[in-house]
Amino acid sequence: MHILFLFLDGVGLGENDPQKNPSTRAEMPILTQLLDGRRMTKDYASYHNDRASLLGLDACLSVGGLPQSASGQAALLTGRNVPAEIGQHYGPKPNPEIAKILREDNIFIRLTKAGRKAALLNAYPPRYFYGIHSKRRIYSAIPLAVTAAGMPLFTKDDLYAGSALSADFTAQGWRERLGYADAPVLTTRQAGARMAELAMQVDFAMFEYWPSDYAGHGQDMGAACQLLETLDGVLEGLLEKWTLNDGLILIASDHGNMEDLSTRKHTANQAACLLVGAAETRRQFTEGLVDLTGIAPQILNLNLMGRSCAAA
Ligand SMILES: [Zn+2]
Repeated sequence: MHILFLFLDGVGLGENDPQKNPSTRAEMPILTQLLDGRRMTKDYASYHNDRASLLGLDACLSVGGLPQSASGQAALLTGRNVPAEIGQHYGPKPNPEIAKILREDNIFIRLTKAGRKAALLNAYPPRYFYGIHSKRRIYSAIPLAVTAAGMPLFTKDDLYAGSALSADFTAQGWRERLGYADAPVLTTRQAGARMAELAMQVDFAMFEYWPSDYAGHGQDMGAACQLLETLDGVLEGLLEKWTLNDGLILIASDHGNMEDLSTRKHTANQAACLLVGAAETRRQFTEGLVDLTGIAPQILNLNLMGRSCAAA
């Protein structure tokens, strides 16, 4: 079973209100077709058809205050109610308590111990590693979970070799913001195809997309719509290339934010969760799935069934 988890930071299921919610305005032909004309809003969750399912995940987890990234991502990565365990929602980066929880156990640790091949597809620039090694920067929850499993993070060389993807999908940002004029830039469609190819080489692949949370904090409707249109382009390439009947694409978030641009803050809305795969696989995956803590156990259930591609 190949699972691709495309993680979107800060994307909830919001109201069908074009004043607030870019999901109701952005041109997203691929996603809209996948959902039979529906949009990614709370009105349409839960929705299932022969290819896809859309549902919302409770990100509040019975803890007061607004959900935050580190505790929410830790819940996704461990299956534990991390906000309840630490008594608060916390972020954006893990505090020592969350870091300890992630180092003890997470899906990357479980999968690699079971002999499964896992990968975080993001490529990190040299300045990121410099920041970590010089202690000016700390890991966010996802790279922390990956490195705790003894897995390396992908580098500039991996990006240039085509074996990893830029955090903005296309690597335009490597040219424009990081100063690598020779960075290999992809179209969104090519980036989606690359993501599918890379994910099909492993049992579990994850990709972290954080600009969505930034767009929510920025409250810029134009930028948010553009970002969703980029995502739709990636989805086009991904779905064209994804040929696996036994695979599952999971696109899910840690908390709401971008779906309500009337506030700069995160929201208490359900986190978006979109699944693409065979009906039976989705039925199993979504059975009893109501909040962030349900994701990790379901990934492990599916990924630990059958043969590993490491053994193939
Ligand atoms: Zn945020």
